[in-house]
Amino acid sequence: MRKRLDSMQTIIFDKIALIGIGLIGSSLARVIRREGLARHLAIATRSSETLEQAHHLDLGDSYTTSNAEAVRDADLVIASVPVGTSESVARDIAGDLKEGAIVTDVGSTKGSVIEQMRPHLPSHVHFIPGHPIAGTERSGPDAGFAELFEGRWCILTPLEGTDADAMARLAAFWRACGSDVDSMDPVHHDMVLAMVSHLPHLIAYNIVGTADDLETVTKSEVIKYSASGFRDFTRLAASDPTMWRDVCLHNKDAILEMLARFSEDLASLQRAIRWGDGDKLFDLFNRTRAIRRSIIEAGQDVDVPDFGRQAGKAPAE
Ligand code: NAP
Repeated sequence: MRKRLDSMQTIIFDKIALIGIGLIGSSLARVIRREGLARHLAIATRSSETLEQAHHLDLGDSYTTSNAEAVRDADLVIASVPVGTSESVARDIAGDLKEGAIVTDVGSTKGSVIEQMRPHLPSHVHFIPGHPIAGTERSGPDAGFAELFEGRWCILTPLEGTDADAMARLAAFWRACGSDVDSMDPVHHDMVLAMVSHLPHLIAYNIVGTADDLETVTKSEVIKYSASGFRDFTRLAASDPTMWRDVCLHNKDAILEMLARFSEDLASLQRAIRWGDGDKLFDLFNRTRAIRRSIIEAGQDVDVPDFGRQAGKAPAE
């Protein structure tokens, strides 16, 4: 276990309410407790089974299945639920939010979360959407760990007129969780994430689905020989179905745009193979190798075999 990021860390919020205690919510709970970022940590989740599990893991100071109850007197409220659920969470909490509270989320899409939540939130709170670019293919309270956000970016997508002090406090919170913080326009966020996260997941879901459907290669061969490239796709393709269904439905335009670009480039690759255009293939593979090097140089992955994964060190979302 890594020790606290800064032994002099001070309390940033008196009360933090976490709505949703899966992979992201429970990782936040763990780092909030480790770093002492709140005097009181309230946990809310939909089902009593998950709530019990969170209690058993000792993730917070109070536990409830009522979102409204959790946010009472909270200075920071973080929704960590599938993006398609954002509107119902905003409806639940709207009447119980403290004046001056910061309301944020961790959803993988931003335009849709803003559309769903903004109309319901009172004007006396600061709504600042966010997205930590950190995750794994696992879900639920057991899957979380305090180090998840370390060295990863958290993108905040403030709306026009956002209070500078609230923005600074939220950014300080994410830094205390170990993240670097950037801010971005929500539309741009959705386009960038469609490329770096949503499209790769769709390619993985598709390739693993194709292998599953193939009749000439048996399922046992797919599993037996999976070390040769296929395996790395299966990690992404094992990601939470609810989360990824919602991402696809809630970032539709940007994803369709990236899929169109991808299909055009794939057709061009197909043509190069058909016509034996080795130079074209070599140039592309050289260019893509340089991108991998830049990612390692930027500290976003480590240069070890096994696709950069090490036991205990999770890949980004
Ligand atoms: P998760 O592990 O599946 O946990 C989801 C949480 O949301 C659980 O507490 C679950 O409650 C609750 N929930 C599920 N459906 C709900 C519904 N219909 N109404 C109310 N609550 C509901 O999910 P996660 O991976 O933490 O993802 C949470 C958010 O983080 C998503 O918006 C996702 O886009 C974003 N995100 C994920 C990753 C990643 O890699 N996983 C990375 C960055 C951002 P119960 O168990 O009680 O039903």
